[in-house]
Amino acid sequence: MLVTLEGIDGAGKSTVLSALGHAYPDAVTTCEPTDSWYGDAVNRSIGDDDSDPLAELFLFVADHADHLSRVVRPALDEGKLVVSDRYVDSRIAYQGESLRGEVKRPMEYVRGVHAPFTRMPDATLYFDVDPETGAERAGATNKMEHADFLAGVRANYERLVESEPERFVRIDAERSPEEVLDATEDALERVLAR
Ligand code: C5P
Repeated sequence: MLVTLEGIDGAGKSTVLSALGHAYPDAVTTCEPTDSWYGDAVNRSIGDDDSDPLAELFLFVADHADHLSRVVRPALDEGKLVVSDRYVDSRIAYQGESLRGEVKRPMEYVRGVHAPFTRMPDATLYFDVDPETGAERAGATNKMEHADFLAGVRANYERLVESEPERFVRIDAERSPEEVLDATEDALERVLAR
């Protein structure tokens, strides 16, 4: 089963991922951007205020394709639980925002680029946090981490959650890390029992 963690910066997903790695030792915990050289290229692009948003999307897509073939599909084929911190929905929400004005219907465009080859998640835990809180927690170290950009990203996530209520489980991430973790483990248990 493939479960993804989604939400704006500062929602606490990486803390949750490492805790889930301990709670579910047989699971494969992973993330996007990955730690491969494709992921390094993505991170270089994110750190560059002048990078072209469309070029940046395709770096993300290359990283995703590599992640799918090298990590996600092999683990799923072995029957493992795979938990990924960020996945396709991050691009739909983030690049759906950064490509506004660059391409027509950016969220649909980004979804369409992935659709022919990706494996969609069985369930997605969506960590919902106010953009001001998220920006403050993230420390605004790059162009994506500012509250006004994150507000647009959050609105895109809301559209995704509304359009697929059976896939998404919303978790209130304004709470303390312990409370968020408890809520996540409960949600994951329910997902696994389906
Ligand atoms: O939150 P995380 O550490 O996973 O994200 C790394 C950086 O990449 C963040 O600044 C985030 O805003 C950015 N990002 C992005 N587009 C994505 C995924 C992440 O700009 N699709």
